[in-house]
Amino acid sequence: MLRVHYSWYQQPAPTSPVTCDCGWAGTWEDLDQEPFEQLLQLSCPECDTHTNVLFPTTAEIRDAAAAGNPDALKQLQSVDQQRERRTKHPEASSPTQLPGLPADGPRILRVDHEYPERDPRDPDGPWLVVMAGSQILWRQPAYWEDVDGGERFLRIVWERYGDQIDEVDLSRAALCYICGDRWNQLGRIEAAALGPNAPRPEPTDTRSTSVEQGESALPPSDRDGPPADSTK
Ligand SMILES: [Zn+2]
Repeated sequence: MLRVHYSWYQQPAPTSPVTCDCGWAGTWEDLDQEPFEQLLQLSCPECDTHTNVLFPTTAEIRDAAAAGNPDALKQLQSVDQQRERRTKHPEASSPTQLPGLPADGPRILRVDHEYPERDPRDPDGPWLVVMAGSQILWRQPAYWEDVDGGERFLRIVWERYGDQIDEVDLSRAALCYICGDRWNQLGRIEAAALGPNAPRPEPTDTRSTSVEQGESALPPSDRDGPPADSTK
């Protein structure tokens, strides 16, 4: 039974009994979990036989929410909040949007992650910021586990300032927020921070595909739910 694929809202309840061909028996929530870009992989703790549960698309979330599914209602709220935030604070889509550096500016730019907790008057964070010394050059929303967005942003920073700087110093906080639990993507983001001359990392997650910008991840508070709309 562990070889079947499930859609998000059709998966068994957490306490449903599960048996594996190897003899293991437990419940659905006892299975080992590993999240990927578009699905959650659930594995038998004994023999690693696995099944995949596809994260819901926005359309599936809306359908399930309309049918009164409480998880979907929560997820839909998060999807809508994220859409609002992206509309209110658009991300850089071109290097020309970023301001210039003074001619005698620093040769190292820092890309950091600003937590809203640092400033309770700022309800729109967290942010990714580009700092030249103590000056903030650019600020845009940071999205948890938005590896594609983080990589795109670092590429834009290099395109904009590459001929004026030697280094982008990506803070540990920014790296961790961009990658979230997707540790296999660390190399990709580190390489993007090193700039265009960095060696390309070996692909580590062949199942991952590019997610359309817009609704790729839920904030950390919703990590008990799936990333929204990850099937494009
Ligand atoms: Zn097994």
